[in-house]
Amino acid sequence: SYFTAIFIISRLMSIVGISKHWNIMNILPKLPPLDVADKLSVDPSAVESASQDFGHIVRSVPRAVLFPSSVDDIATLVKFSYDSSVPFTLAARGHGHSVRGQAMAENGVVVDMTSMKKHRNGTGIRVSSDRLYADVGGEQLWFDVLNETLKHGVAPVSWTDYLHLTVGGTLSNAGISGQSFRYGPQISNVYDMDVITGKGDIITCSPKNNSELFYAVLGGLGQFGIITRARIPLDPAPKRVKWVRMLYNDFTAFTRDQELLISTNGRRDSSALDYVEGSIMMDQGSPDSWRSSFFPPKDHKRIASLITNHGIIYCLEVVKHYDDQNEDTVDKDLRQVLEGLSYMSGFMLEKDVVYAEFLNRVQSGEVKFRSKGLWDVPHPWLNLFVPKSQISGFNDGVFKGIVLKRNITKGPVLVYPMNRHKWDDRMSAVIPDEEVFYAVGFLISSGFHDWEAFDDQNKEILKFCDENGIGVKQYLPHFTSKDEWIHHFGSKWETFQQTKHQFDPKMLLSPGQRIFN
Ligand code: FAD
Repeated sequence: SYFTAIFIISRLMSIVGISKHWNIMNILPKLPPLDVADKLSVDPSAVESASQDFGHIVRSVPRAVLFPSSVDDIATLVKFSYDSSVPFTLAARGHGHSVRGQAMAENGVVVDMTSMKKHRNGTGIRVSSDRLYADVGGEQLWFDVLNETLKHGVAPVSWTDYLHLTVGGTLSNAGISGQSFRYGPQISNVYDMDVITGKGDIITCSPKNNSELFYAVLGGLGQFGIITRARIPLDPAPKRVKWVRMLYNDFTAFTRDQELLISTNGRRDSSALDYVEGSIMMDQGSPDSWRSSFFPPKDHKRIASLITNHGIIYCLEVVKHYDDQNEDTVDKDLRQVLEGLSYMSGFMLEKDVVYAEFLNRVQSGEVKFRSKGLWDVPHPWLNLFVPKSQISGFNDGVFKGIVLKRNITKGPVLVYPMNRHKWDDRMSAVIPDEEVFYAVGFLISSGFHDWEAFDDQNKEILKFCDENGIGVKQYLPHFTSKDEWIHHFGSKWETFQQTKHQFDPKMLLSPGQRIFN
């Protein structure tokens, strides 16, 4: 039989001295080319770490982990699986910061992308000679992209709140933060990419060449190919930022001001600010979270009593960049932009920090959480896009109705608007069908024994939205049935499915998303 044949071949190999591949022979139907087989590991610690992610909720055990040293290694293994009569699935794993097993491959092979870093010989992030773009490996962390580009006085314009995520990982979702209203998500800031398809082909794609693949991959949840390089536009980097938070007890005033600040045709010029975000603060919410370091200790008491009095308050957060050219005028310009906003008097707090410190702000929280053993814990996160027309109903029903009543929220809850026209509808990412929509993130850190309570809260939120016609779309989506995926993609489903058949016909890539597998 087939397996007897494998057994005999393996024995022969071990006799001729290639016994180290014995394990691989046990787990894959045939031995891939030896130079790639050498990079496949069944080491228990490698397999264990590829079976987990930041969410600590899902566990899926792969057969092996590939530690590639080149793009060709990955392409060879994908092609090997594609050509095999018994193909196996493969998941690129960026930094494993998904929360629901999206970078896992049960019984397949996890491709540890970070392994590429040490083999790039310093060429993983290359700034062009005119400093207008950088060619960046899909395995690179945004943190490293920032540090490398800053050496040249330039930087990408669109970021995530946290920088220890890979380029390939965020481009497979969208990559959003307070810059998205102005520059669009990270997927709107890519010139071209090199991608390994599910057939093992290495294809360069852009809006002009292989555009179907280009648009499919951006926000494509890893379904069409593995991104090995992306060309990212750069702008001159500012030196410092003015960073302001304003507190509100009135949600209508809070969202009205947020929308005014991101508006392109409102009273304010949208180019005035570089970042607009927001969050809600509750007894067990943000003040105790990793974002709290913004507020000076002397203000903690009065902010806490504000929260106790109102139950829930809203925090609008903005940033304005500056450098030597506008150092003298930045304060005046910022006052002008913020003039007339309806935050609570006395509750505007301000910081002045270097640009890189602002962008890397979440890491100080990580260090704090790690020191308390609160980082590697379950993260039953829920991220939603809520249309502007329904954000008020969302506040009443979800923030005040569900979250405040349950009062179990542990972690920041973000709420901030963005503009649809900064996204490209040809991309796979799914957003609501309204020009302005809100990103709402329940970024919960729970214990290992109580994460289900938070998951129940998430389910209650989704049920509320469903029953009340609040047309939310999940960001970093997670579903358990194909029907839910079809509903999620809506009018994009047909294209998504057809493109999958074109570029990954054997459904090999990123099985942990559970769309086709
Ligand atoms: P992984 O979790 O390793 O992979 C995610 C998916 O992409 C998987 O399906 C995987 O197979 C696929 N994939 C990975 N690499 C590649 C590649 N090179 N080519 C093709 N597919 C690939 N997101 C935001 O938008 N904004 C934020 O501000 C933000 N903040 C976050 C903060 C924290 C603390 C955490 C944990 C997550 C945050 N995220 C944020 C979510 C994050 O962007 C996603 O979870 C992202 O997928 C994580 O990147 P990663 O490199 O760890 O990807």
